[in-house]
Amino acid sequence: MSKTIIPVPGKTLSGFAGWCMLILCMTASVYAAENSQNIVIEVGNTKLDLVLGDKSNPTLGNIAGILKRQILQRCDAKLQPDKASQSHLTVELSIQADIETEGFRIEDGKAGKIRILGGEAGGVLYGVGKFLRTARYDRNGLTPGRWRGVSVPKCPLRAIYLATHFNNFYEAAPIEEIEHYIEDLGLWGYNTIFVHYPTWQFDGLHSPESRKWIKRFKTVLAHAKKCGLHVGLLQVPNQGYKTAPLTVRGVRVPGHTRGNHGVNLCASKPEAQKLLMQLLDGLLDEFKNVGLDYFEFWPYDEGGCSCEQCWPWGARGYTQISRDWTRRIQKKFPHCKIVLSTWCFENENDENPDGEWVGLTKFLKQDKSWVDYIMADGHGDYFPKYLLAHGVPAQLPLVNFPEISMFGMMPWGGFGANPAPQHFQMLWDRIKHIAHGGAPYSEGRYEDLNKAIIAGFYWDPNRKATDTVTEYLAFEFSPDVIDDMLKVVGIFEQNHYRNIQNSALLAFDLVTKAQTKLTENVKNCWRWRIFYLRALIDKEMFESKGKLEGKTLKAAFDELTQLYYAENSHSMPIKPPQLK
Ligand SMILES: [Zn+2]
Repeated sequence: MSKTIIPVPGKTLSGFAGWCMLILCMTASVYAAENSQNIVIEVGNTKLDLVLGDKSNPTLGNIAGILKRQILQRCDAKLQPDKASQSHLTVELSIQADIETEGFRIEDGKAGKIRILGGEAGGVLYGVGKFLRTARYDRNGLTPGRWRGVSVPKCPLRAIYLATHFNNFYEAAPIEEIEHYIEDLGLWGYNTIFVHYPTWQFDGLHSPESRKWIKRFKTVLAHAKKCGLHVGLLQVPNQGYKTAPLTVRGVRVPGHTRGNHGVNLCASKPEAQKLLMQLLDGLLDEFKNVGLDYFEFWPYDEGGCSCEQCWPWGARGYTQISRDWTRRIQKKFPHCKIVLSTWCFENENDENPDGEWVGLTKFLKQDKSWVDYIMADGHGDYFPKYLLAHGVPAQLPLVNFPEISMFGMMPWGGFGANPAPQHFQMLWDRIKHIAHGGAPYSEGRYEDLNKAIIAGFYWDPNRKATDTVTEYLAFEFSPDVIDDMLKVVGIFEQNHYRNIQNSALLAFDLVTKAQTKLTENVKNCWRWRIFYLRALIDKEMFESKGKLEGKTLKAAFDELTQLYYAENSHSMPIKPPQLK
């Protein structure tokens, strides 16, 4: 496992303050390959020289751009690109063959140089994340941290699933913000971005809405790859377009948690198979130039058909069509890996009466060569009992699907940040000995801290959620507010299910106090605002005994709506609840 050396967040190089108070500048968020020259940055009275080990590697140049953007948004900066000046601090980004794939090493070089080395470009990105998180940002600039060592991730699939539907944040926000957010997730160690092409929203591949979606997410996924990340599609193999003829539609499956938008086709009908293959081919061709590293099959919510030929879906219709699709996918993308999800194999009574687990196990024992990972998880605190009792079907690697967005919340993210480190620690502890990673479900960015917590688990399964929370608070806010904000996170989790206790008053006091220690950059960033607004909303709702009334609450909900770009969202309306 990892040779991680746990750093001390926020420690500074006080003895070097004269030269390491840096003010860094940038000219573009992504450092274009054609401009891959060393970057010299004005640093108060000195200069920072950002050196690329391989100037011909465009991914390294893009990672350098991420490093510059991150520092700029945390420090007051001015652009003084004087490349002729003497540099006093050099930061080198390089790929080094002796480092394990995806791992990184941060070390001191000669004459004050800091070297961030990765086994591949992705490793350099994760190393830059560690460099950034262990630095300190003040009103005058940046102080590099003291963390040095080697770190290698334990879990190979450290994905995030961005739900791209209902006009949510990922569909509605300016594309540059989505790209920056994906970069930020990469800095925490995520290595794969999954999105879902929502066929049930479209009349067909060439409908205007579909073209808009495809154009947007081709751009987003291509950007992820330029930063050293992998990408994949998550699709329901029997889900058609809105225009699918009624004659090919499937039979509704039992159980309300399994979902149905009415366009699930019967995978056993030849005419349906033909339409579904056309849909798949069209979709794959759209992503030909981007390149798909993963394809994930999804059984339910939405999906499924319970006709005599398809049922039990998870052991028959679903597995057969997924196996057939895999052959088709890998003709176009030979190295594409396959994730087979088992979401909602159980019904809402926590039973599995239809034999899907047993049937899937039997199916895969005959041939498991087409599957790389089995994904399993459940709503709320549930985890499939079959897996815990019998192990993973065909002993394939297991990945999970943490629900970080919607649990106990309506509207999703509607009250601000929703950190729940204890909840996710409990869920992770049950499976950390058998998990090979996973993909949290995300509807927006209000669960940003939960994403960091899960990334911490995937990097090192024995890392504690509270350690990641501490690192997050130091990095995103300030090392000076860790103690108070740790208490706030605990109170937020206690009040998560909206039975708000008087601890909400203390949380607001602590947030107000912490805010006095923050830089202007941090006070105005969305990550701080969703924390501040959560504290404010909880305090107001405690004092009003849960009533949604008054100008303060309305203004808070309005601001959240703007921060999430949720003005026209459908199922994630941060439109103020019925304010009187
Ligand atoms: Zn059927």
